[in-house]
Amino acid sequence: MKVNIHEVCPRDGFQSMPAFDKDTKVKIINRLVKCGFHELEVTSFVSPRAVPQLKDADEVISEIDRSQPVTLRALVPNERGLERAHALGIKKLKLMLSGSDSHSLYNANATTFDALERYRSVVKKATTYNINMTGSIAVAFGCPYEGDLPVKRHEEICDKYEQLGITKVSLADTTGMGNPHNVSKILRHLMKSFPHFTFTIHLHNTRGMAFANALAALEEGVKDFDSSTGGIGGCPYAPNASGNIATEDLVHGFEEMGIDTGVNLDRVLDVARYLEDIFPDQVDSFLLKAGKAKSLHKAPGRQRIK
Ligand code: ZN
Repeated sequence: MKVNIHEVCPRDGFQSMPAFDKDTKVKIINRLVKCGFHELEVTSFVSPRAVPQLKDADEVISEIDRSQPVTLRALVPNERGLERAHALGIKKLKLMLSGSDSHSLYNANATTFDALERYRSVVKKATTYNINMTGSIAVAFGCPYEGDLPVKRHEEICDKYEQLGITKVSLADTTGMGNPHNVSKILRHLMKSFPHFTFTIHLHNTRGMAFANALAALEEGVKDFDSSTGGIGGCPYAPNASGNIATEDLVHGFEEMGIDTGVNLDRVLDVARYLEDIFPDQVDSFLLKAGKAKSLHKAPGRQRIK
């Protein structure tokens, strides 16, 4: 079995850390492009006032290594973001959308459906630029303000996306409120109602449930997974949001189960160590602490008790 790993550290990770310099960002991305990811989410073209950590997005993208066979994608909240992405030759974009009105009002100053309506012109323009658009649903497995979202809500959002011509949607557990049971329930329902859609799952490990949730999604047939090297990430518009599932933990877990990720785990671990050197308080990764399960230790021999 083969799955696709989408690395999101340069967007989810960078936006959740204290601002740092452009050259370091370029250096991190240039290491990530060589790890074998299916896609790399390189930034979010948001207003620098909203997310000052990404204010140098345009300069960063214009300096990174574009020679590697990895699809670069970015998040956009509006037409202005689309124009910036187009000017930089980004060919895959993800629309930012919250599944609940409370989170959406805080995040985008509009209800979920008003925000979706505003995307109509963005998608239309993206088509003329030959840019591949995908959708997202943040807080899909629990909203910190409203709790669980009824699956009808996901259905209505997917219907709207389909009307816009979008059939690839990322479901995000933005604040790690999901559990394998509701992840399965929602995915089973959506995959039955929208069999022609491709769903990506975007997991945060806020409550230690991310790998279990990834397995639940895998069992429902999901093949596309977001993760962040070093487990760094968060959401500026949600209380207690913390890191994404660490890429090295997700890849290691899948590979241990015989599932091919196409990712070079040693390279990912090198980047994670580099991140740990710069941001020791932000990195959260089981594999960095414990090493690979198959890295055996030399047997110490019989215990000598004095
Ligand atoms: Zn996230």
